[in-house]
Order: sequence, then structure tokens, then C-alpha cells
Amino acid sequence: MSASQILTQTPLGLYCAGGDFHLDPMRPVPRALVTHGHSDHARSGHDAVMATAQTLDIMALRYGEDFTLSRQVAVLGEWTRVGAVRVRFHPAGHVLGSAQIEIEQGGFHLVVSGDYKRAIDPTCLPFEPVRCHAFITEATFGLPVFRHPDAADEIGKLLASRALFPERTHILGAYALGKAQRLMALLRAAGYDRPIYVHGALEKLTAYYGRQGIALGETPKVVAAERPKLGGEIVICPPGAIKDLWARKFPDPVTAAASGWMRVRARARQKGVELPLIVSDHADWEALCTTVVETGCEELWVTHGEADALVHWAGTRGLDAKPLHLIGYGEETEDEMLDAAA
Ligand SMILES: [Zn+2]
Ligand SMILES: [Zn+2]
Repeated sequence: MSASQILTQTPLGLYCAGGDFHLDPMRPVPRALVTHGHSDHARSGHDAVMATAQTLDIMALRYGEDFTLSRQVAVLGEWTRVGAVRVRFHPAGHVLGSAQIEIEQGGFHLVVSGDYKRAIDPTCLPFEPVRCHAFITEATFGLPVFRHPDAADEIGKLLASRALFPERTHILGAYALGKAQRLMALLRAAGYDRPIYVHGALEKLTAYYGRQGIALGETPKVVAAERPKLGGEIVICPPGAIKDLWARKFPDPVTAAASGWMRVRARARQKGVELPLIVSDHADWEALCTTVVETGCEELWVTHGEADALVHWAGTRGLDAKPLHLIGYGEETEDEMLDAAA
């Protein structure tokens, strides 16, 4: 048996005929299995959605309670029969609620990673490698040049800058789901105990993390009229907001952003980022390779990102590997617009 007997590539994303469902589909479908709540994977309008309870909650927060006609909770580690296949969700370590999806048919095991990382993140469960015959991986940072530094050291740069410029507001751009809350947790772990101010677009998701038992300390929403008084404070906002008029009302702001892409200096400059912090919620090159080895897979499909180097590397190890070049993933910038509108 092989992966292509279980999954086929369609314009809507990967489709499993045995279970009659799509994985992270791009447009509304009868039945969707969703890996996590980022907008490029979790869309509204499906008839039925199966995902972890947290991903379902996050979808309801973003799209409204009517984001789907019916919801099915996937309990981590538990098999569920769907048509002719069985499925099981496992932690992916990417954001709260994120999961890999394992599909079994006729004794053949296939795992779809969704987005994932291997670095420790106090705001979500760690990635669990799952032994399988075929592994379907992302490769957002699938080039040997991508080697993410320790996130705690990057937060150290932010705190050092704050110590150097105690009168200025530090405005930190970060995705509203996952990255923002991870940064808060990292700041707390580094001993930062001031309130961490948040842009309105981050409020609902940050409160949700709190309700899920993830302690982030005091995270008040920025009151527009009080911006001039927030000198010396740290403010987190969606990446697009650091260049907005909204950001200019703070005292002499230092603009920072936290992303794996901040390794690329030209990108930081283009985004108007003075203080780039390399903090990624995706696996870097080494983590991708380690993970592929740990799954013990014989077949490797690479869904999106820098697929070619990983496919080549897998080939040299005797794996049957191919790039899918799925379109529409990896565009989490959409998140900020969605949340700003919400
Ligand atoms: Zn994601
Ligand atoms: Zn993604």
C-alpha cells in the first residue's frame, strides 16, 4: 500500500476517499478534519468539522458559533472510525489545540503533520513523533540556513532594548493566535512582571488561553487615549499594526517583530522592524529532518514551504519523497486582517 491510495491532492486540499473528508480544506466542504486554528488551515462554512476541542473553540471565537453545522471533538490519542478509515489526533506543538492527524486504512498508517515545531512552548502540548509508513509534513523553514535560535535569548534582546530605552514603548508584532501568547509566556519566564499591553485584535484569544489555564499575567487591552502614557511598556499587536498610525501614538516607539522570517534581514527592513526577534512556531531545518527520521516513514510528502531541499535530503536517505506544492498555506498574514476586523 502507499499514501496515494489513502490521500489524493485536490484543488481544495488533501482528500481522503476512504473517510470522505478533506484535511484543512481551502473552501467549504461536507466534512473537514482541521489540524489547528490558523486561518490558512481552519476556514468557516464546512458542514462538519472534526478537530480538537481547543481548535473548535478557537474557530468559534474567530468565525462565530455558526462556523460549521456540526462539530466533532477529536480527543488526543483516541481512535475514531470515519467511513472506511480510522483517525487519531496527536499534539503538534504549534499553537494551543494544534494536532497532527493520523489515518489508518488496512494496516497502513499515514500522519499529516499540519504546522508543527519541536521547540518547547509553555502555551501548548509538545509535539509527539508518531511512527508511520507515510509522513505528510510542512516545510515552511525547509532550508539548512534556517536554524532557529533559543527563543529565551530573543526575548532577552527585547528586555535589553527596554533597559536601554526606558522611556520608549516597545511595540512587538506577533500573530494573534499562538505567537502572541507564547511571547507573553516567555516574558513571564524571563521574570518580566509589568502588565503586557495588547492590541484589541489579540484580546479574545489571549483571554481564551487564560481560561484554558495558561497563566500569562496581566494583559490589559490598550486604551487608545492612554497610548501617550505607555512609555517604557511592552505592547503586543498583530504584525501589520506596527507600521499603523495606531502605533505612532506611543512615546517614541521601538518597533519589534517576532517571526522565523526575522532571520531574513531584508524582510525585517521591508516590514519596518527595528528590532527583529527570531521566534518561530515552525520546525527549523534540523527539526524537520529529526522528525522525519523519528517517524520511521518510508514515504514523505511535503505539503508547503521550502519543499525541494527536504525532498532531496529524504531521497538521499532512501525515502520515497515528493513535494505537493499546495497553494494557500503559509499565509498566516491573513490572520491579522481577520482579527483586526473582528
Ligand atoms: Zn499555523
Ligand atoms: Zn500554516
